[in-house]
Amino acid sequence: MLKRRLCEAVFQWELTCKGPFLIRDERYADCKKGSKEEGFPDCLFMSHLSKKELETVAKSCNNKPPEMPFYVPGTSIRGPFRALAERIIRSLLPADAPPHLTACNPFEQKNKKNIGCSKRLGEGENNGSKYATACSACKLFGCTGLASRICFTDADIGIGNYESVYRDMIGIDRFTGGVFNGANMRYHVLENTKFTTSVTVVNFELWQLGLLAYVFRDFKKSLVPIGYGKTKGFGQVKGEITKIILTYPKISTQIEHMGSLMSSTTERDYYDISTCEAPSFEHFEAKKNDGLSLYQSVTVTNIDAFWSEIAPFFNKHIEEIRGRAEKVKHQAKEKVI
Ligand SMILES: [Zn+2]
Repeated sequence: MLKRRLCEAVFQWELTCKGPFLIRDERYADCKKGSKEEGFPDCLFMSHLSKKELETVAKSCNNKPPEMPFYVPGTSIRGPFRALAERIIRSLLPADAPPHLTACNPFEQKNKKNIGCSKRLGEGENNGSKYATACSACKLFGCTGLASRICFTDADIGIGNYESVYRDMIGIDRFTGGVFNGANMRYHVLENTKFTTSVTVVNFELWQLGLLAYVFRDFKKSLVPIGYGKTKGFGQVKGEITKIILTYPKISTQIEHMGSLMSSTTERDYYDISTCEAPSFEHFEAKKNDGLSLYQSVTVTNIDAFWSEIAPFFNKHIEEIRGRAEKVKHQAKEKVI
């Protein structure tokens, strides 16, 4: 299935963070030259500087927050994004549903009952394709042996879109209630930050876009922090989708997806792709083809209408999974009897 490109959705996503925001550059630990007493920070924000350039900055950044080409790696956004998507899936399904029908713990390797997809699929426990037997989260985000369909680009933070500052934190002695000298920290954080990333989903099913509707909604409500220091209140981002572009082999006035674009029933069954008609959608604007492109793109002109149209497909998917989980439970009960 991944040998062909049938459909693609690109979401341009603008994130803002008024308060402190920190993505740690782990290379700084090796470059650090001075102590806290001299005013050097304990960590620096992630930048595009080379190791050599970072070493130069590390020598002179005492009491003066540096100005560098800062950026947010796509992986720093992807982690909390996946965690939230998994939480949404699990919350809507019964707690005792088998993990391969909800969202597995990708790192679970030992506990047979809750084993993650990476280990389960690696052991060859699949009668059809790996995609068909993976859990809903791994179908979108991937696992060992199954490529991810979703990718996040690194986001540069342009000059004027941040303030580089130091935040000093004092440790409290839990016994005396006074200052605990050994625990003082100086964090290099950015404030009033704004950056844009692109989220691309290739070969999507409708329910996967529906799941994204809920994930993006929670980011819009600032419910998901990203980066370092979440417990300290750092990284309270607010995300807003500014553009959605859908790309298909030929232009459409419907929201086409894998189930509507795959012509062979055998192929659909093999990958267990949910089949449903592509819903009509009137808020599309076709992009001009330069004559060389094999694909046609449409821009969504009413983003809220798009989410309202697409979100119910995730609800339907959950209902279907719930039915499957009930069936598994019933079969297990019959076995016991
Ligand atoms: Zn999984």
